[in-house]
Amino acid sequence: MNRYADRRTRALSAAEDAELAGLLVAPGADLMYLVGHDPPPLERLTLLLLASGRDPVLVVPELERPAAERAPGIDGVELVSWRDGDDPYELVARILRAGRYAISDGAWASHLLALEHATADCLFVAAGRALPLLRAVKDEDEIARLRSAAQGADATFARIVSLPFAGRREVDMAADLDRLLREHGHERVEFTIVAGGPNGASPHHGAGERVIMPGDAVVLDFGGVANGYCSDITRTVFVGEPGEEELRVYEVVASAQQAAFEAVRPGALCQDVDRAARAVITNAGYGERFIHRTGHGIGLEIHEPPYIVEGNETPLEPGMTFSDEPGVYLAGRFGVRIEDQVVVTQDGAERLNQASREPTVVG
Ligand code: ZN
Ligand code: ZN
Ligand code: ZN
Repeated sequence: MNRYADRRTRALSAAEDAELAGLLVAPGADLMYLVGHDPPPLERLTLLLLASGRDPVLVVPELERPAAERAPGIDGVELVSWRDGDDPYELVARILRAGRYAISDGAWASHLLALEHATADCLFVAAGRALPLLRAVKDEDEIARLRSAAQGADATFARIVSLPFAGRREVDMAADLDRLLREHGHERVEFTIVAGGPNGASPHHGAGERVIMPGDAVVLDFGGVANGYCSDITRTVFVGEPGEEELRVYEVVASAQQAAFEAVRPGALCQDVDRAARAVITNAGYGERFIHRTGHGIGLEIHEPPYIVEGNETPLEPGMTFSDEPGVYLAGRFGVRIEDQVVVTQDGAERLNQASREPTVVG
């Protein structure tokens, strides 16, 4: 059985375990995962139907049929195309039996509303809620791709710290990160956060006009897509020797990041990993300043389950991959975040990122 057919079988049995009649998959990461098909998400309906007791069906617009026929995972999938002027929702309604179906979170509301209208006896629920772990456990090929994406991000970090920071704008450094990521195997760059001084206290600051100055702590958080899989790394660097409090906060965040890493093993709960990082930061007196979860899953998407957050009692399994990225944010002053991607192994965890976590001084 090919990899894609195997994934479809697992997805359908997970849906059946969740007492669903099937799973409807719109363009996006899930469709890439299950068929290897990556059409643009458009007003024309493309939808994979995985339903109990029948072969998978991929409904596609006629004009996209050739692309669907070339998808690496199309073997074993019945292709049904429709032409402009046809009603694709009626077509889907004729195929589906009555029941509850999970549908991709990213399916357009316009498609879902038309499906609800066309199918009187079908009920739809969000796949992200019903089947959150569909793509969470990675196979060896996926882990190899994530590792090589992480290596490209590590190499980018090694290069950026050799460039001058002081006197340049955040957007100039961000442009360098973009170029370096592409030079290191990335086909797409998704984000290049460069947050100097007070901007570092905002975790999702992008990159702005502010000129980086001596004495700044600079948060660098960047990543993209290499061979279909995502990278995402954060390091905080110092322009010149760091001040006393900057260094203290840095050591606290680094210890928290290490504590979370050491909490990762099969059977540990997602929230245990968050708690391990949070305990270190809270004990150091900065608990109120750690204002986000410890991590997010990573794979075909940059943010995907499992989320490393209080309240998530999902047990970790070998092959799960996610970020370990605690931070401390002091409004108006500076922020520190350190992020690696990790993979759960048979008896613990492995970091996919190997870039230095020691305090790094730049020029
Ligand atoms: Zn984020
Ligand atoms: Zn990040
Ligand atoms: Zn991240």
